[in-house]
Amino acid sequence: MNTKGIIIDGKLISQKIKDELRLKVQQHNNKHDTQIGLAVVLVGENQASQVYVRNKVKACDQVGIKSFVHKLDETISADEVTSLIKELNNNPNINGILIQLPLPKHLNEDKILALVDPSKDVDGFHIHNAAGLFLGHHISQSTQTPILYPCTPSGIIELVKSTGESIEGKHAVVIGRSNIVGKPVAMMLLSLGCTVTICHSKTKDLPSITKQADILVVAIGRKEFISGDMVKPGSIVIDVGINRHEGKIYGDVNFDQAKQIAKHITPVPGGVGPMTIAMLLSNTLKASEK
Ligand code: NDP
Repeated sequence: MNTKGIIIDGKLISQKIKDELRLKVQQHNNKHDTQIGLAVVLVGENQASQVYVRNKVKACDQVGIKSFVHKLDETISADEVTSLIKELNNNPNINGILIQLPLPKHLNEDKILALVDPSKDVDGFHIHNAAGLFLGHHISQSTQTPILYPCTPSGIIELVKSTGESIEGKHAVVIGRSNIVGKPVAMMLLSLGCTVTICHSKTKDLPSITKQADILVVAIGRKEFISGDMVKPGSIVIDVGINRHEGKIYGDVNFDQAKQIAKHITPVPGGVGPMTIAMLLSNTLKASEK
């Protein structure tokens, strides 16, 4: 059966989310006579990071969140970063704190991320939030503040839901087991009632597994790695990959092939990418509601 897949338009869906957020942020700002604030910590001159930060600042402007970018020198010491984060943790005008990754090699990412107040951790990377997600909690049992889920996985779930297909009972296959995409999205799909298989570089006979996937989430980082014959007819395919090649951006899925087989499929660019930023804004609003 060769059905032509319906494109899941991440740009459109994220715009809808941002439109709704703008109203909510406005209400919040009016009610509290203050503006929701997001602090972004950017260390060094990484080109891609600078683009990501610019996009995040632009998105904040669009919904009425005030952004504060802290551009730090590549050679800054761990102590100096620590004192900045502590200051931001205590600043009542800052509702969310984002540490743009990757950090320069001399800074230990895990240690730095652990310094962020979990209730301001809008990337959802703090161990407190990771544990909350693992336990399926929405509110922290200890602090009564919302558990903040990581942005890309949350965006993926929104895209799956946008298809209108039922999710419960589906076989979801996630390729990739990173802490920022693969593992958390697998936990979220499990919470939604999917039977979840997680694959990675050591998985044997990957095609035999992907061909069983009603929902296939691909987060590997290899250009067009998933061919059409690895996709189950009628499935939902979410391509997380961002692979730059000769000035163009490609996903992890061969879109033209998979589109002939899947029922719903995300493009790259214009799929998961825009959702990640929308979810960051959503988390910042959530963090302000504590
Ligand atoms: P990581 O490099 O951290 O993880 C990649 C995963 O893919 C690993 O678990 C690895 O397995 C697995 N993998 C590698 N090769 C194979 C293979 N041949 N077969 C099966 N599995 C394999 O990447 P991230 O999770 O951070 O990101 C994945 C992709 O998503 C990247 O392209 C990244 O740019 C993109 N991305 C996009 C975002 C967006 O907003 N759209 C946000 C975040 C990421 P193992 O663990 O065994 O090494």
